[in-house]
Amino acid sequence: MSGVSNLRDKIDAPAIGHECHSFIAELFPICRSITGNGLRETLARIGKHIPLNIHEVPSGTQVFDWTVPREWNIRDAYVKNARGEKLIDFQKSNLHVVNYSVPVSARMPLSELKKHLFSSPEYPDRIPYRTSYYNETWGFCVSQRQMERLEDGEYEVRIDSTLENGSLTYGEFLLTGASEDEILISCHACHPSLCNDNLSGVALATFLAKSLMGCQPRYSYRFLFIPGTIGSITWLARNERNVHRIKHGLVLSCVGDRGKLSYKNSRQGNAEIDRAALHVLKHSGQDFNVADFSPYGNDERQYCSPGFDLPVGRLSRTPDGQFPEYHTSADDLSFVDASSLGDSFSKCVAMFEVLEENRVYVNQNPKCEPQLGKRGLYRTFGGYGDSQTRELAMLWVLNQSDGKNSLLDIAERSGLSFAAVSQAAEALQGSGLLRECEPAGERARAAAREMVRG
Ligand SMILES: [Zn+2]
Repeated sequence: MSGVSNLRDKIDAPAIGHECHSFIAELFPICRSITGNGLRETLARIGKHIPLNIHEVPSGTQVFDWTVPREWNIRDAYVKNARGEKLIDFQKSNLHVVNYSVPVSARMPLSELKKHLFSSPEYPDRIPYRTSYYNETWGFCVSQRQMERLEDGEYEVRIDSTLENGSLTYGEFLLTGASEDEILISCHACHPSLCNDNLSGVALATFLAKSLMGCQPRYSYRFLFIPGTIGSITWLARNERNVHRIKHGLVLSCVGDRGKLSYKNSRQGNAEIDRAALHVLKHSGQDFNVADFSPYGNDERQYCSPGFDLPVGRLSRTPDGQFPEYHTSADDLSFVDASSLGDSFSKCVAMFEVLEENRVYVNQNPKCEPQLGKRGLYRTFGGYGDSQTRELAMLWVLNQSDGKNSLLDIAERSGLSFAAVSQAAEALQGSGLLRECEPAGERARAAAREMVRG
């Protein structure tokens, strides 16, 4: 068994949920964007937990049909009335400035200013979050109440930002396992002070990486902390030659709210990650949702574009766009919750455990049932359910292990939990009744290594 299987027993998910929440609180004030120093500062703080590689891709670099944009940085922004009072202040909330606003220093009447103000009348106390990455403009976001308080008169408007040639930054961490085959974990880190949408995924990915570091997994795990859309496109453009190693993948997004877990299938629809996710959620005893793939959402759109079609699903609680706090100042520290983060963490670990342990075996005594009692296989291993379940799991594994069915196939067909099936397989293998089939890829690699040695 790989070290990941023991991780669930060792980890304290509620404690990790609290650590995730504190990390979100630490990152919350930083003004992030798809490029710039806020994103760099965020990656530097992730780098205190895990050995993150930072990549800088120059502005103007062509990445498939897109171009890496110029780098945006902001120091301050405000709107003052004629009495010199700051009515809109970037220092109070970085959501007040339309992300990627070009610099402005001007005086103008309210009628002119209003062309650059955004509010959401349906939630009059919230500041909406707006961006203008690919259209050079400027603007301020305010609550509807703030908007209504603005009186006629002249206003001083200042945005101290720069938009110039620089680079796009992303962070990458490869945890090397026994195999070159990879599990990809991707999250976006490009939103300013918003918690569920971006920081929950960032925190969860950071602490998953940190926990897996002590595990000696079978798979290699590649963690990407990237700006949404342009980041995954850039990564895919630079790593096209190696994407065949990605055997399973998860985009983590909106994983910290109090809603039920929601998994979105990969474009393939029946990939092993899709089946592992469904299995874990089904056996969790909690309410959940599984959605079909659609080309709307997060970076799974790029990983699952037809030219790549990678087996990458998306794990969320309430998916983006489906909660009223989405892209507003109400997606704050109170909207994300330590126990939900802890629950998302333990479900990810359970999914990894299925992927790590999902193997194919051959029954070494296939003619009629072997006599389990004389081999001491009754009630000799514990941990999952009663002895009846353990015996049932052994009978299923023996019956189905013909070199074709994987343990996940057996778990699905029997209705038993993967853990019960996997434990049965381990016990049967220990007594010589099962032999593992090496996957074709691993067999070929082993042969190639022999050739080099020979
Ligand atoms: Zn978003």
